[in-house]
Amino acid sequence: MKILCVGRNYSEHAKELGNAVPENPVIFSKPDTALLKNGEPFYIPSFSNDVHHEIELVIKINKVGKKIQEKFARNYFSEIGLGIDFTARDKQNELKAKGLPWELAKAFDGSAPIGNFINIENIDLKNIDFSLQKNGQLVQQGNTSQMIFSFEQIVSFVSQYFTLKVGDLIYTGTPAGVSQVNIGDHLEGFIGNESMLICEVK
Ligand code: MG
Repeated sequence: MKILCVGRNYSEHAKELGNAVPENPVIFSKPDTALLKNGEPFYIPSFSNDVHHEIELVIKINKVGKKIQEKFARNYFSEIGLGIDFTARDKQNELKAKGLPWELAKAFDGSAPIGNFINIENIDLKNIDFSLQKNGQLVQQGNTSQMIFSFEQIVSFVSQYFTLKVGDLIYTGTPAGVSQVNIGDHLEGFIGNESMLICEVK
């Protein structure tokens, strides 16, 4: 399986990092070794002193597809969950300054915790509240109405380049409020009021 991620999909987050709002989705990927499942802890990697949490809604592909039209994109995913796109911000800034790819800052082992999924059958995809608490304090909150590119637009866009397969995950971008994580932090993600993801930082 593969993990595709969208960067800069919430304008307030693009602004907080000093980035322009993109015309097309910004796409990068992570290997399956980035995944942390079932509440496995996250170990801060030794090459970074500034790893940030990015809470993101994640869709799970349930049907093989390529070159999917936006109007049919909804048929290619049936579950949504929460993940964290851990980012070594110091490393990313170094790579960005040199015009280099972001993988070393984004795709390292354990950089993609994933939580539980829920069926989207009765969910309004354009109005999903989600949030992240760090040590019990609200640090990030978003609503899908703030997305620059919708789930359907993202599925359609990425499938022009990559064949989507059953089980592939798409991390759909983070709202504002990213910040550094430290050893001992307890991260908990919510869709609405429902706890969907727990991650301990070690
Ligand atoms: Mg992200």
